[in-house]
Amino acid sequence: MSLIVQKFGGTSMGSIERIKQVAGRVIKEKNEGNDVVVVVSAMSGETNRLLDLAVKMGGKQDDMETDLIISSGEQISSGLLSLALKNEGYDAVPMLGHQVRITTDESYGKARISSIDSENIRRMLKSGKIVVIAGFQGIDSNGFITTLGRGGSDTTAVAVAAAVKADRCDIYTDVDGVYTADPNIVQDARRLDVVYFDEMIEMSSLGAKVLQIRSVEFAMKYGVNLFVKSTFVDGNGTQIKFIGEEESMEELQVSSVACDKDEAKISIRGIPDRPGIAAKIFSKISSANIVVDMIIQNISIEGHTDLTFTVSKKDLKKALEITEELAKELDAKEVLSDDKIAKVSVIGVGMRNHYGTASTMFDVLAKENINIMMISTSEIKISCVIDAKYAELAARILHDAFNLGRQN
Ligand code: ADP
Ligand code: ASP
Ligand code: MG
Repeated sequence: MSLIVQKFGGTSMGSIERIKQVAGRVIKEKNEGNDVVVVVSAMSGETNRLLDLAVKMGGKQDDMETDLIISSGEQISSGLLSLALKNEGYDAVPMLGHQVRITTDESYGKARISSIDSENIRRMLKSGKIVVIAGFQGIDSNGFITTLGRGGSDTTAVAVAAAVKADRCDIYTDVDGVYTADPNIVQDARRLDVVYFDEMIEMSSLGAKVLQIRSVEFAMKYGVNLFVKSTFVDGNGTQIKFIGEEESMEELQVSSVACDKDEAKISIRGIPDRPGIAAKIFSKISSANIVVDMIIQNISIEGHTDLTFTVSKKDLKKALEITEELAKELDAKEVLSDDKIAKVSVIGVGMRNHYGTASTMFDVLAKENINIMMISTSEIKISCVIDAKYAELAARILHDAFNLGRQN
């Protein structure tokens, strides 16, 4: 007998019919003699609908009221799935974040899990129940509801799997695994049997929303046996695992392409070029809980320089306010912003052993006349910021150029 955590996303929970189908997947696992813990997302579109209501009432992403409102979609899903299981004659129990005791910090809208009390789950499993947990939500140390950031049910599932020491954590979604690129953008993208944690971390942080990045970090830290599978078609899906010694030498130069349209860039032009200016700007931005991604600074001309950086679109307004105030204080010439950008990236652990990846990437973009605004690299990825209107085209031509398609 194994202990399995299954997570079902918004599309999988999208209607009464689909929830019945999900119940079928849960029952199959239970009938094989396993203990099953299920984590569910809100029905597709529901979190956006709730967020919209909160915003219309003046709520901001980091208000505690907004979290209370947007967490409710998962509550409904857990109740519905529990009912569906009971209708089929199985003993199930729906549980909310605070009933499990998923505790988090107080960063409303993007809270981090600090602990999970596995005792409540274990007690329910011992009495033969299928536990159906509402994903995406927790409580802070004062007992207020928090949410874990968009896509956060993945993180609930992996964190629960780590806490109960599950034998496997299956993330069920609307695609049958992790692909060489978003299959909804690149038609001949290929499903991968295995993706290494190092690559998955990069993919998730660079726009492949199939797994929320924090779920991958959790799985890596606690060694969770993690799979991505389809709710709608049978198959083994994709396993996310640690790279083995024997595998590292033969890897492809590039194993996937990712695309992120969720960022915006801010430029401060004509800032006096003296020590401490960058520190001042970025410490103000980070103290507003805003994560900065790429940064470039131009060479100084006559004692002045330009600084450009990217933040997520949802943080743009706040970041702009801070930057404009600072620009005045620093006597900078002007502040510009652009939210019509996209970041395209190529990723692969094989890049460690190959050269020429960057030049191929730049060449391919140049041939299509796509201008590169910013570049960033790590050992296993290269990212370019380009005009948003070329995002899909860039993903396709890069996918082709690195021979990632099905026909190869
Ligand atoms: P869920 O609602 O089940 O959590 P998501 O919409 O969050 O599902 O994630 C699944 C989606 O991720 C897919 O429909 C696909 O469009 C997108 N995606 C982006 N990049 C990839 C990739 N490399 N492989 C698979 N899916 C990807
Ligand atoms: N319902 C939440 C969202 O839409 C969490 C999730 O689906 O993982 O972001
Ligand atoms: Mg998701």
